[in-house]
Amino acid sequence: MKLIFLGTNGWYDTETGNGICTLLETGSYYIVFDAGNGIHKLDRYVKEDKPVYLLISHLHLDHVCGLHILGKFKFSKGLTICVGSGDLDSFKTLVNTPYTMPLEQLPYEIRVLSIPDEVEAIPFPLDWRYLRHSVPTLGFRVWIDNKVIVYCPDTGYCEEAVELARRADVLLAECAYLPGETDERWPHLNPESAAKLAMEAGVKMLVLTHFDASRYLSMEDRIRAEEVAKSVFPNTLAARDDLVLEL
Ligand SMILES: [Zn+2]
Ligand SMILES: [Zn+2]
Repeated sequence: MKLIFLGTNGWYDTETGNGICTLLETGSYYIVFDAGNGIHKLDRYVKEDKPVYLLISHLHLDHVCGLHILGKFKFSKGLTICVGSGDLDSFKTLVNTPYTMPLEQLPYEIRVLSIPDEVEAIPFPLDWRYLRHSVPTLGFRVWIDNKVIVYCPDTGYCEEAVELARRADVLLAECAYLPGETDERWPHLNPESAAKLAMEAGVKMLVLTHFDASRYLSMEDRIRAEEVAKSVFPNTLAARDDLVLEL
C-alpha cells in the first residue's frame, strides 16, 4: 500500500506545491482524497486496472477545482465520486456546463454516491465524521489491507476528529495555520493542534499536509512545523508534493 501526495498546499498553488490531493493505492483500489489542482498528476500513478474512488471532503474550491481536469484521464475501471449528501446539488452544478465538461461526457464510467445515504455501495469499510470548519466538511476513515488511514482535512481541533482518527495507522491532517496561530472564525489546525489530535487519538503516524500557501512560503516553514509537531507527537512527517510513503 502506498500514500502518494499529489498536492500538499492549502488554498492555491505556489512553488511549494499544488492544491490538496492525496492518493492511496491499495491492492484493489485507488482511493483519492480531495480534488485540488494536484489531481492533474493522478495519471502518473494510476497504471493498473483498478477502480478509482474520489472522496470529497467539502466544496471549498481548493478541494474541488481539480474536478475540471477529470477529462484528461482514462480510468478503465471507472471513477466513483463520493460527496456529502448536503453538497450533492452544488456538486452537480459545479461539475457541469458552463463550468466544465458534464460528468456524463467523461470518457469512462462514472458514478456519484452521496455520503452517508449511499455508503453501502462502497466496497471497502469507510467511516466519516463531520468536522469543525466554516462549512460542513467530512473527514474520512478507510480500513483496507489491514491498515487504517484517516484523512482530516479542513478542521479545527474537535472531538469528532479524535474519534475518527482513533488508533489509525496513519493520520493525514491538515496544517493550514502556522505554529501558535488560531482563528475561531475560520477553524483550521496548526502543528501543535494536529499533533495533539494525533496523540489523543493514539495514532501510529501523523502526516501534515494542506499547508496554507499564504503562510507556508517555503519548505523550511514546513520543516519548522514538523519540528514543532514532533515536540508533541514524535512520529510526524511534513508532506511535500510527490512524496511516496510505502505503508
Ligand atoms: Zn482547504
Ligand atoms: Zn475549507
